[in-house]
Amino acid sequence: MKIVNPATEDVIAEVEMADAAEVDRAVERAVRAFPAWRAVAPGERARLLRRFAQVVEDHAEELARLEITGAGHTVGNARWEAGNVRDVLNFYAGAPERDHGRQIPVPGGVDVTFAEPLGVVGIIVPWNFPMVVMTWGAAPALAAGNTVIVKPAEWTPLTALRLAELALEAGLPEGVLQVVPGEGEVAGARLVEHPDVRKIVFTGSTEVGRLIGAKAAEQVKRVTLELGGKSANIVFADADLDKAAASAPMAVFDNSGQDCCARSRILVERSVYDGFLVRLSQAVREVKVGDPNDPASQMGPLISAEHRERVASFVDRADVYAAGSCPSGPGYWFPPTLLAGSSSESFRRAFTEEIFGPVVTVVPFEDEADAVRIANDTAYGLSGSIWTRDVGRALRVARAVEAGNLSVNSHSSVRYWTPFGGFKQSGLGRELGPDALSAFTETKNVFISTE
Ligand code: NAD
Repeated sequence: MKIVNPATEDVIAEVEMADAAEVDRAVERAVRAFPAWRAVAPGERARLLRRFAQVVEDHAEELARLEITGAGHTVGNARWEAGNVRDVLNFYAGAPERDHGRQIPVPGGVDVTFAEPLGVVGIIVPWNFPMVVMTWGAAPALAAGNTVIVKPAEWTPLTALRLAELALEAGLPEGVLQVVPGEGEVAGARLVEHPDVRKIVFTGSTEVGRLIGAKAAEQVKRVTLELGGKSANIVFADADLDKAAASAPMAVFDNSGQDCCARSRILVERSVYDGFLVRLSQAVREVKVGDPNDPASQMGPLISAEHRERVASFVDRADVYAAGSCPSGPGYWFPPTLLAGSSSESFRRAFTEEIFGPVVTVVPFEDEADAVRIANDTAYGLSGSIWTRDVGRALRVARAVEAGNLSVNSHSSVRYWTPFGGFKQSGLGRELGPDALSAFTETKNVFISTE
């Protein structure tokens, strides 16, 4: 596979794609490494994960540079992501000694539960946030005593491969964390099918997530699915409209809109709709798109020519209310684009389907009930924002919107110490937060008779 810098179209690396036999060999190594890894004393496993976090910190700039050249991320984002990998490893390094069961009162004996690791965990990663998504699965899985095989996305394997090397450097034993780059239908599918892989964590499109869920069900294999989104940003008339308008563009254009949490549907109360659009257009035009290495760039290119073509297919010139600018010449550039209030068929498609690019749609709503109805009129349910100064309404709407991650008067990104995941067809299960280890353990109940 030729790895291409999306900002320049230069080939920066070539990576061999694993076939099914290579995946089988990785699973064999992971199965072999499992008994010793689960037996590592909790405090020692914690120390190894902390050391891994430190090695990541020592190589943070190198990892960030790989994500800039390999995935087109802006330097600001890429550095944040390398820091996030370190933080997630540190956070779950605190878990092994706390991964305890319970003692439940029973007559005639003692009843205790154990949190047992599952065995080999397969993690299938998308191209939009390569190193962080890998780590959100791998860190708690390793902390719980599982061995892990990561299958990165075809276009973006470089940071994953480097993280596997850094894990070895930090002292994680061979076979505990492996990275196998390969095609989804070949290497990814083999991980899902392999009977010795006990759990799949899949982050990617809802379409592929459905296939993986069905395939895994044949073996009652555990799955966590983190899938697509079409999230709403609801702006009420009583909100701080300047702040809401100024922050709305980056809530969808961050990472060039290639973000499952992108607030790509903006719903605005009708009485302030026109005024809000004027403010928003201004903010959209001001988004700085350019060289990802320039710290002033807020947005870089899209991941590939193929993806840019798909994004462009959602934009009918007639629906464009405002657009920013972007570089011409080499690179997969696309300008921030605002589509507003049209009833055309192409607008409807842009309003309902996940575009995964820098395109935002805006529509008016009449009242609170109408806002909730429009927000929930989608098969997705990942994230969303609510802008209002009325605390009661903020809570009512937050409870009524069917989504896993909501923010009020902000567009909070994912925090590693709070749970993250989707309602409806945006996913199954939760990652991150204080309970992530429960997705990588089985509860075992043991009764000991005292009679
Ligand atoms: P994708 O579904 O095309 O691919 C994701 C991964 O699955 C890749 O590694 C791919 O090689 C692999 N894959 C493809 N077909 C497979 C198969 N048959 N069996 C096993 N593995 C297979 O998604 P993408 O285009 O890489 O990523 C974009 C999508 O990911 C968007 O829909 C986005 O919303 C979603 N996403 C969700 C979250 C979340 O946390 N909810 C986070 C990031 C991205």
